[in-house]
Amino acid sequence: MLEQGTISIHTENIFPIIKKSLYSDHQIFLRELISNAVDAIQKLNMVSRAGEYSGDIAEPEIQIAIDKNNKTLSITDNGIGMTADEVKKYINQVAFSSAEEFIQKYKSTSDQPIIGHFGLGFYSSFMVAQKVEIDTLSYKEGAQAVHWTCDGSPEFTLEESPRTTRGTTITLHLMEEELDYLESARIKNLVKTYCDFMPVPIKLDGEVLNRQKAPWRESPSNLSKEDYIEFYRYLYPFQEEPLLWVHLNTDYPFIINGILYFPKLRPDVDVTKGQIKLFCNQVFVSDHCEEIIPQFLLPMRGVIDSSDIPLNVSRSALQTDRTVKKIGDYIAKKVGDRLKELYRDNRDQYISAWKDLGTFVKFGVMNDEKFKKQVEDILIFRTTAKLSNQTASETPAVQVQSEGEDAWQDVTPPSPPAEGTEGGSYTTLKEYLERNKERHQNRVFYCTDEAAQATYVELHKKQGLEVLFMDSFIDTHFINFLEREFQDVKFTRVDSDLDQTLLDKDQATEIVDPKTNKTRGEVIKELFEKALNKPKLNIRTEALKSDNPQSTPPAMVLLPEILRRFREMNA
Ligand code: ADP
Ligand code: MG
Repeated sequence: MLEQGTISIHTENIFPIIKKSLYSDHQIFLRELISNAVDAIQKLNMVSRAGEYSGDIAEPEIQIAIDKNNKTLSITDNGIGMTADEVKKYINQVAFSSAEEFIQKYKSTSDQPIIGHFGLGFYSSFMVAQKVEIDTLSYKEGAQAVHWTCDGSPEFTLEESPRTTRGTTITLHLMEEELDYLESARIKNLVKTYCDFMPVPIKLDGEVLNRQKAPWRESPSNLSKEDYIEFYRYLYPFQEEPLLWVHLNTDYPFIINGILYFPKLRPDVDVTKGQIKLFCNQVFVSDHCEEIIPQFLLPMRGVIDSSDIPLNVSRSALQTDRTVKKIGDYIAKKVGDRLKELYRDNRDQYISAWKDLGTFVKFGVMNDEKFKKQVEDILIFRTTAKLSNQTASETPAVQVQSEGEDAWQDVTPPSPPAEGTEGGSYTTLKEYLERNKERHQNRVFYCTDEAAQATYVELHKKQGLEVLFMDSFIDTHFINFLEREFQDVKFTRVDSDLDQTLLDKDQATEIVDPKTNKTRGEVIKELFEKALNKPKLNIRTEALKSDNPQSTPPAMVLLPEILRRFREMNA
């Protein structure tokens, strides 16, 4: 070894870099200063609870003041304040935060997290200010108020201040090119965006700008259905009620809080973009977190708040981050749990949500082994069987359609079902196979286009064969997937060929049309032939076939396709 030592930093050179390039976005200075103010108030709460401060802590608040004449913007809190020593320690030393020390010392007295961490936030004020002043009085008994100023050079002044109220005022002398921060509309907007859920009232001209309450930090048992819906409407105004929601809250092995909603998919719901808002300790971070939630849950909306999601790394690094991966798995699991709960407790609601959800659940099942295991028993398909008591019983009772003597001769296609669940009953594959054990011999008959294959569906029905509708655009892939999953089950599309072995022998030779002396088998054959000559109307599913899911993983081809089609369908 030639030498060992400490690397030194030239403040003159590094300071401009910190000021200009710390954050790409200038406006976040306000978020940083308000976060510090919230922390200061939170810290005062903590020392008070620890019995180290007996003064008045009532009415915590943060006041923003705009002075157009002097071109200053100031942020005042009535929090913990700073002594001269603390200013020297935490302000004059860049990248030195008091948060860690504080949490270590007082963590038992806190139910609210401290936002600060890196000891850099304060310096973001120099992105917009040519000069910054701190005027502060510590809560500590006999503390002397101090006044600190710095014009952005590494030199500062520290002197005594006549201040008599506990807390801190940060005053920014704005640069000429940043004077739009003197517009109250601009400030209100920024507070609404970044600080809406911070737990202290933030005021401008006496008006409170932020909502303060962050429902995702509440215990789920304290929230009613109305609370969840109200919050959804608050986040996404003028929207229909969400289909379902999950409340995330765990502390281990990572911290995450949040409420995620599955929206009704309507034209104005853009499912191609993630719409979940990412927060860190109630501070808004970003409008999208596609990297965090599993791909198949992209349409979900709501809020995720986690201090364990690394914020200062690139998006691609996020995707490979192990904690982020675990958080994604956790979210998928919670969604799976919620679906199972709904399936068990409110079958009707589950079925009506399935129309919007089904595609994404199937997509998840094909792409996420764990999620598949979780929900495979609650995948449902619309069926020609008339099932009753769907909500009450585990295995729905079947009402086999009564076969009227001439019923099966009338094969006019039924009109497709109306929106919603009125169109039919739903069944799981397992129930279907169980119900049709004898008659079907492990076959599943499915229809991919209700209008084009109506004749075949009717024919199967008349033969007492139950047909499943697999007619959404994901189903072509999903059938392939099911075929691989259920190797011993034969999946037969209703119009592929009439399987004579399934037709009742006696019934087939019975004469059913006295006028022409035709047997049931002959009539069916004729009808099939007629139907087969019909032009194919089955465009919707045919179009997807070229994707060849066998050679390309469905995840790759499908998501953009799903999203595109959802948009088309809803447009
Ligand atoms: P961080 O918030 O990550 O700790 P900052 O650069 O934002 O870093 O602030 C550095 C330190 O300055 C804080 O840890 C805190 O000790 C002190 N500080 C900043 N603003 C205030 C304030 N309004 N009241 C009391 N202390 C403050
Ligand atoms: Mg800070």
